[in-house]
Amino acid sequence: TVSVVLFTSDLRLHDHPPLRAAVDAADEVVPLFVRDPAVDRAGFAAPNRLAFLADCLADLDAGLRRRGGRLVVRAGDTAAEVCRAVRQSDADEVHMAADHSSFARAREERLRDALEADGRRLYVHDAVTTVVPPGDVVPQGSDHFAVFTPYFRRWSGVPLRSPLAAPRAVRVPDGLRSDEPPSRASVADVSEGLAEGGESAARRRLGAWLSRHADAYETGHDDLAGDTTSRLSPYLHFGALSATEAVHRARARGGPGAEAFVRQLCWRDFHRQMLAVRPAIATEDYRPRHDRWRRGAAAEADLRAWREGRTGYPVVDAALRQLAHEGWMHNRGRLLTASFLTKTLYLDWREGARHFLSLLVDGDLANNQLNWQWVAGTGADSRPNKVLNPVAQGRRYDPDGAYVRRWVPELAALPGASVHEPWRLKDRDRAAYDYPEPLVALAEGAARFRHGRGLE
Ligand code: FAD
Repeated sequence: TVSVVLFTSDLRLHDHPPLRAAVDAADEVVPLFVRDPAVDRAGFAAPNRLAFLADCLADLDAGLRRRGGRLVVRAGDTAAEVCRAVRQSDADEVHMAADHSSFARAREERLRDALEADGRRLYVHDAVTTVVPPGDVVPQGSDHFAVFTPYFRRWSGVPLRSPLAAPRAVRVPDGLRSDEPPSRASVADVSEGLAEGGESAARRRLGAWLSRHADAYETGHDDLAGDTTSRLSPYLHFGALSATEAVHRARARGGPGAEAFVRQLCWRDFHRQMLAVRPAIATEDYRPRHDRWRRGAAAEADLRAWREGRTGYPVVDAALRQLAHEGWMHNRGRLLTASFLTKTLYLDWREGARHFLSLLVDGDLANNQLNWQWVAGTGADSRPNKVLNPVAQGRRYDPDGAYVRRWVPELAALPGASVHEPWRLKDRDRAAYDYPEPLVALAEGAARFRHGRGLE
């Protein structure tokens, strides 16, 4: 007997229920990845993510080869290619992970119909791409939680399955054609400092973070220069690491830092359970505030300056340049650049979200759009009108200015926290720095936001 395993956002061998089920059910397994152009058309592809995907596929193939198998890659429509592989290998069944975006659900439906028409079965496994499946934890009278803390309380009490070991051997039927997998080298416009993808890198990173940084995480996770966060987000996005396994290992490690990390992993499930039942909130306000976001030529110019990291606010520019250089940004940077765009420049969160998605290697529809909404005050945040002051944020989370000096080399000669306020320099000294004036005074930005939102 033969089973097909369709890999999508779960590019790993450890803790992979569909792979385990397929190996247990059949003598031979076809580990299949379909490079579907519909995924790119739906906007999920960007150079950094394509390069990272290439690493993940290469590592998955290497892991399968160590177990006697290999990855079969096909290019084309997912349903058509899976059916073709099923026929060619005479497989009885297909296993895949449940995923929750409207795109993923439509793909699953089409695949199920196509397989059933061929007399084959599709098995969809839950809790592969999330720790707790969307819909498993809901408040009374609603289909989702809109507030994080009660969700976290319930989520924390859900019994988790034990992580599954990677299979020891995977036997793949002979003679199956595989298209050339995408290679990292073939992707243009990749960020210079992009991390290496793949399950092996993910497992090394998790182990290193748990032993070296977990203790510093609770108090240090907001330290922009300190880099105590795990940087596991891209691996979790591609499923090169199982979030369930990460929760288990952090709980086994114990301590306040590991607990704080588990809480962050819960945010990931929280956003997914919202988007699963309200797919429109990828683009529409979750809680409309009747904003009159700025438009027109001046707004366009401000947006361009923000994208390019030339706002004149050093910590904002540092974070945006980190994004361009690494395809990743520290969470504190995401918060303060998003607040700056939506509340100081008073520009539509969708513009910022689009820019992030064009670069973020962890760019993820649920996490990105709903975090943007949270910061913009159109989402589930209980303080929708709070504005983060970029100077205060810089002084607090980059107290000696090291983060700014790393990413804004024009200001590298300014000592300590003075780097956060270059406009305080005397005119003569200021001219020595090739760095823009602030796009807008903070008080003016805040007044514009309050007026536009109808708060005054
Ligand atoms: P850690 O602090 O080590 O946290 C561990 C894991 O928890 C992360 O890898 C991530 O999977 C999860 N996590 C942490 N914070 C959040 C959060 N606020 N929401 C959801 N999950 C979280 N995260 C993405 O994965 N993809 C995105 O596209 C994305 N866009 C964002 C946009 C904005 C405006 C903001 C404010 C946040 C966004 N985040 C996004 C959430 C968060 O910034 C990143 O997950 C985090 O910075 C990743 O770094 P890390 O792996 O070192 O995180």
